[in-house]
Amino acid sequence: MSTNLQNQPLAGSFDSLDLIDPLCRAVAEEKYTTPTPIQSQTIPHLLAGRDLLGCAQTGTGKTAAFALPILQHLATNNKPAGRSGARALILTPTRELALQIAESFRVYGRYLKIKHAVVYGGASYNNQMRELARGVDVIVATPGRLLDLYGQGHVRLNNVEVLVLDESDRMLDMGFLPDIRRIVAAIPTKRQTMLFSATLPNEIVKLSESFLNNPVKVSVTPPSSTVERIDQRVLFVERENKSALLHSMLEDESLYRVLVFTRTKHGANRTVQKLRKIGVEAEALHGNKSQAARVQALDKFRSGRARVLVATDVAARGLDIDGITHVINFELPNEAESYVHRIGRTARAGAEGVALSFCDEGECGYLKNIERVTNRSVTVLDSHPYHSAAIAGRGANTAKPKTRPQPRRRGGKPARRVEGVQGAWNRNGGVPSGVSHNQRRRAR
Ligand code: AMP
Repeated sequence: MSTNLQNQPLAGSFDSLDLIDPLCRAVAEEKYTTPTPIQSQTIPHLLAGRDLLGCAQTGTGKTAAFALPILQHLATNNKPAGRSGARALILTPTRELALQIAESFRVYGRYLKIKHAVVYGGASYNNQMRELARGVDVIVATPGRLLDLYGQGHVRLNNVEVLVLDESDRMLDMGFLPDIRRIVAAIPTKRQTMLFSATLPNEIVKLSESFLNNPVKVSVTPPSSTVERIDQRVLFVERENKSALLHSMLEDESLYRVLVFTRTKHGANRTVQKLRKIGVEAEALHGNKSQAARVQALDKFRSGRARVLVATDVAARGLDIDGITHVINFELPNEAESYVHRIGRTARAGAEGVALSFCDEGECGYLKNIERVTNRSVTVLDSHPYHSAAIAGRGANTAKPKTRPQPRRRGGKPARRVEGVQGAWNRNGGVPSGVSHNQRRRAR
C-alpha cells in the first residue's frame, strides 16, 4: 500500500486522467488544476473498473476521486435505472455528508444528464419517495433510512452497478454494520465497490475482504501529516472553569470562525446558551436537532452570521467548512482518532489552523493517549486566568515524539513546551492570514 503521499509534489493534471470533456470542464470551473494524490492514484484504476480500498479522510479530495469515475461510467454506459432503481449507491454515515456528496455529484456532473437523489433520516419520507419513484442514476444515502425505504419497496437495488462505502470506520462506530450488510446483500455481486475509511482497524479490513474483489489499495494522509500543520495547545483548567475560559478567549476577535467540540448533545446546547447570553452568536450541531435546524445552523456558520459552532463528534464528521480559524476542544475526546479528526476541521485545503484543547483532571489520560498516537507533544498554554497547576502536574507529558525532539528537563523526560498568553490563541499572534477584513466583519 502506498503511504504518505499527501504532501508530495503533485504530478500530472486532470487532462492526463482520461476524463471525458464534460467532467474536465466542470472540474476546471471548480478551479481544480491538479488532481490530489488520492485522485491521481485512484481515478485511472476506477475508470478501469477496479475495486478500491481507500484509506483517506475528508479534506483529501476523496469525493471527486470516486464521483468523477462514477459519473464517467454512468454517462458512457448510458442505460435506464428502471422504476425505483439506481445505478450507483453511495452510503455515508451522516446527513451532512450525504448532502455534501450529493452536491459534489451535482457540481461535477453539471454537464451530464445525471439524476441523483439524497436519502437520510430525520426528514420527510414523502419527498424522498417521490425522488426515488422514477429511478435515478445515483443515490447518496445514510444506511438506516435507505434500508427503511428498501423494506417498504420504495427503492430497488438490483440494478446497482457501483457501490461506495464512505467513512466506513465511522459507519461501523455508529452501529450501521447490520444495515450495511443487508443493503449489500440486495445489490448484485457483479458490481464495482469502493470502500473508504479514515482508519483501517481489523473490522474494516475484514469488511473489505468480504465486500471487495481484488481491490487496488491506496492510502493517503496518515493522521500525523494533518496534525503537523496545526498549531496545537492544551489549557489545563478545572472543569467548572471551562465556560469562563471559553468566554474570555472569545473576547479576542481574531477567533472569528470557531468550531467548539463538546462530548454530549446536552453539553453543546448548554454551551450555546451560555455564549448567546454573553452576546456571542453561536449555533449547535448535533443529532437531536431536526434536519432543517442543522442545515440552518451550518448555513449561519458558513456565512459568518454565527461566529461559533458547537458540535458533537458524530455531527461534525467530515464537515467541509473553509476558514475555520480555531478548533476548541471544550472536552477532550477519549479516542485519539476523534481528536485528529476534530482538529483537522481547521487547516483545510493546505491552510494552517489552531487547535486549543481544554483538559480537566479527568481528561489527562486522554491527552497522554493523543500524544502517544500522534507521536507529538502538545504545547501547554499556561498563562491564562484559569490555569490549574495541579492538573498540569497530572497531565505532565509522557510522549516521546520522534519527529520533533522536545527540550529535555533534568530527569530525562521530554518537557512540554509552555507558552504564555501573549499571542496565544493564534499562530501569528493576531488575525490569521488569508482572511479579509470583510469576512471578519461578517463573522462578528
Ligand atoms: P473532500 O476530501 O472530498 O471532502 O474534498 C475536500 C475539498 O477539496 C473540497 O472542498 C473539494 O472541493 C476540494 N477539492 C477536491 N479536489 C480538488 C482538487 N483537485 N484541487 C483543489 N481542490 C479540490
